[in-house]
Amino acid sequence: MIADSYNRIHDYLRVAITDNCNFRCSYCMPQEDISFLPHNKLMSVDEIVAISTTFVKMGVKKIRLTGGEPLVRTDGAEIIKRLSTLPVELTLTSNGFLIDRFIDVFADSDIRSINISLDTLQPEKFLKLTRRDAFNKVWNNILLLLNKGIYVKLNVVAMKGINDDEINDFVSITKDLPLHVRFIEFMPFDGNYWNKDKVLPASDILQNVEESFSFIKIKDEINDTAKKFKPLNHEGTFAIITTMSQPFCNTCNRIRLTADGKVKNCLFSSGEVDLLKAFRNGDDITGMIQMHFAEKHKERGGQFPSNYEYTDTARINNRSMIKIGG
Ligand code: SAM
Ligand code: SF4
Repeated sequence: MIADSYNRIHDYLRVAITDNCNFRCSYCMPQEDISFLPHNKLMSVDEIVAISTTFVKMGVKKIRLTGGEPLVRTDGAEIIKRLSTLPVELTLTSNGFLIDRFIDVFADSDIRSINISLDTLQPEKFLKLTRRDAFNKVWNNILLLLNKGIYVKLNVVAMKGINDDEINDFVSITKDLPLHVRFIEFMPFDGNYWNKDKVLPASDILQNVEESFSFIKIKDEINDTAKKFKPLNHEGTFAIITTMSQPFCNTCNRIRLTADGKVKNCLFSSGEVDLLKAFRNGDDITGMIQMHFAEKHKERGGQFPSNYEYTDTARINNRSMIKIGG
């Protein structure tokens, strides 16, 4: 069991299998000096499976593959297939571009739910945000997943002046499609030019939706990060991930493993522990994991003021999101 000093039990592992990506979302990666890890610094397939297995023995019940873009790894199919033999719920977060190539792998590996990131429904804006002309490809892949009966959550990073005019368009697509839209408040990471004025807080999102839709609050699961709502007579739902305006750290059960094998006890932790180096040296990593979680801060890596509007990004010591794995 991986516990911390606030009695939180951590049983959900998010593994970044690469820090590389075929998109260039500015909120996720620094615009300048982008360099990706050399092959020998990345965890190999065997290392991913072995380290994940250690976590499973310590109580992990769910594994999410992320990155970077997890599906750009040429051995991605092997990683998915091998992890699917572990006694866990296996899932992934993807930008959607390569989904069609993996659709049979998902079926063979019993993947039932996938999170796809999509911040706009407008092809031209998509090109500006991701620097790739790929809206139609991603949208068709979302429809393909639905056709195959996979539960799809759509991650939308909500940003003022960027996509705040599309909140109701996203809710509208849940009318006839069983999609689960999740608006994520924009978070600060290394090099992403965050400032408080770009955050579209949950209160603004709800006010916006209220003007056009009738909806009810639906029950959240104990470790959910999203507050969920159901528009009346819609196939799908929408939710808000309120990391900035209403943090949900008291029920956190997440463990993050970076593509270079470092464990982080929080998305915003400044500290990390090099499990891959220890593993390659033949050391036992169990104690290192326990100790790192014993030191976990109560809230947001101990790096944020309670009111996000006073956040001073110069004082936050962390990686960029693409180097952590969301
Ligand atoms: N490439 C995959 C994708 O885009 O879904 C997986 C990795 S991405 C880092 C994981 C999630 O983090 C995505 O849903 C992305 O939108 C989200 N994300 C990245 N930067 C963010 C930020 N600054 N604030 C909020 N969410 C962010
Ligand atoms: Fe790539 Fe995902 Fe980051 Fe966009 S959000 S740059 S798709 S890792």
